[in-house]
Amino acid sequence: MVSRVIPVEVFDLVIFGATGDLARRKILPGLYRRFLSGQITGESRIIGAARSEMDRAGFRELVAKAIAEFVAKDRQDPAVIAEFLDRLDYVSIDASKGEDGWHQLKEMMRPDVVRAFYFSVAPALFGELAEKLHSHEIANSDSRIVVEKPFGRDLGSARALNTVLASHFEERQIYRIDHYLGKETVQNLMAVRFANILFEPLWNSQFIDHVQITVAETVGVEGRGSYYDKSGAMRDMVQNHLMQLLCLIAMEPPYHFDPNAVRDEKLKVIRALQPVPAEDIVRGQYLPFKGAPGYLEDSENPESRTESYIALKVHIANWRWKGTPFYLRTGKKLRARASEIAITFKEPPHSIFDDAAGWRENVLVIRLQPDEGMNLTVMIKEPGPGGMRLMQVPLDMSFADALGPEVSDIPDAYERLIMDVIRGNQTLFMRGDEVEAAWAWTDPIIEGWESRGDRPRGYDQGSSGPEDALMLMHRDGRRWREIKE
Ligand code: NAP
Repeated sequence: MVSRVIPVEVFDLVIFGATGDLARRKILPGLYRRFLSGQITGESRIIGAARSEMDRAGFRELVAKAIAEFVAKDRQDPAVIAEFLDRLDYVSIDASKGEDGWHQLKEMMRPDVVRAFYFSVAPALFGELAEKLHSHEIANSDSRIVVEKPFGRDLGSARALNTVLASHFEERQIYRIDHYLGKETVQNLMAVRFANILFEPLWNSQFIDHVQITVAETVGVEGRGSYYDKSGAMRDMVQNHLMQLLCLIAMEPPYHFDPNAVRDEKLKVIRALQPVPAEDIVRGQYLPFKGAPGYLEDSENPESRTESYIALKVHIANWRWKGTPFYLRTGKKLRARASEIAITFKEPPHSIFDDAAGWRENVLVIRLQPDEGMNLTVMIKEPGPGGMRLMQVPLDMSFADALGPEVSDIPDAYERLIMDVIRGNQTLFMRGDEVEAAWAWTDPIIEGWESRGDRPRGYDQGSSGPEDALMLMHRDGRRWREIKE
């Protein structure tokens, strides 16, 4: 099956930070792929902006290299690349000082096309960019701004960012990216829940025993150690990505698939999150292994108490979820790169089969990476004449298998989200109040371990995390799913 491509309106997209890592790895190659698919039409333009002095030809060369490096070889079509590069322009601007470049940028913008400004720069520059776009009358009342994570490091800083953006843009113009929301399976989670009658009647604490959300990485802090050390897994992953996944599982059906209706429901979930006691939190740091440095060395901070791993048990205080724990875990240098949500259903109220028949729970697994898809385990009779013995089999729906070879044309998260910005659809972006509510829940948890002076436990590289995280589930009579690709 080929994914359906609906071209977006003509736009001028300015990428601040166009020479940076994110722009080169994700944003620009993603825009090329959308151009190749026909979703971006020939009249649209992309304008790079950064401090580096460079002319248009220099920027085109940089983008050509990014495409060569980060787009699959079979999708690199020289004629289309040349056409795409022709859509590019560049302006040198230092957002933190002076007026150079702003007038030139204003001249480049065309009337009557969608204007979008992607802030792919450090958050400290967001305020200045917003202010300059406003004071130079480059942004109009229909313009959109896209802001990257991290959106604050606590409630106070997130509020300050919201305030500075709100002084120049309305909420309907602000697109806060959480690229997890752009993943195909994450959106499918909403389709599965709300477009089928099968699951929703069972989707509550009466029938669901617990939920596990795992985001496991094999990489360490990859040369960003001193930056990461100021954040840690709770701020870097749980407050945003895992929280968003939890919301999509736990939220009530919105009255319509509409940006504010969906985000209202997510906000209610965040507000219903209970404080997490110390005994329900396990933090870890990866240890040195066979000459590979451990976290303390990678972070360049031998005294660091920042976690490269965290597991927590979370409760949602509402009618639907009272009594069903959500176990969240994420970490670096783990056994495999694997992200999934697993929903484990309860036992049937009464078993007509002998214990010897062997019963296992039904589990709905939503895999986010590496192989996006869904899998529901069900019990069937073991084939053969050996009496009534049960066995667990998967009803597997791998998107790659179900949708066929053209599945590669499904846009990645960044591509989809940028197209949503141009379409003016905020459903998959975080609203300001959502981000603030998420920090309001996160802050006391972090303050708790800071005030107690807790130290993260060491864990082996290539393992599933600290031993204590296993205990977090064992003591509830449950166990983590294996982390595997
Ligand atoms: P980066 O590689 O350090 O790039 C930063 C970009 O900002 C460069 O293009 C830099 O170009 C430009 N810049 C710096 N100071 C500037 C100024 N005063 N005025 C104008 N431009 C300026 O950073 P990045 O990794 O691309 O990250 C960009 C943003 O995305 C950050 O907020 C980051 O947290 C977020 N993010 C990144 C990733 C990722 O995978 N990289 C993932 C999620 C979120 P010049 O030096 O030429 O000015």
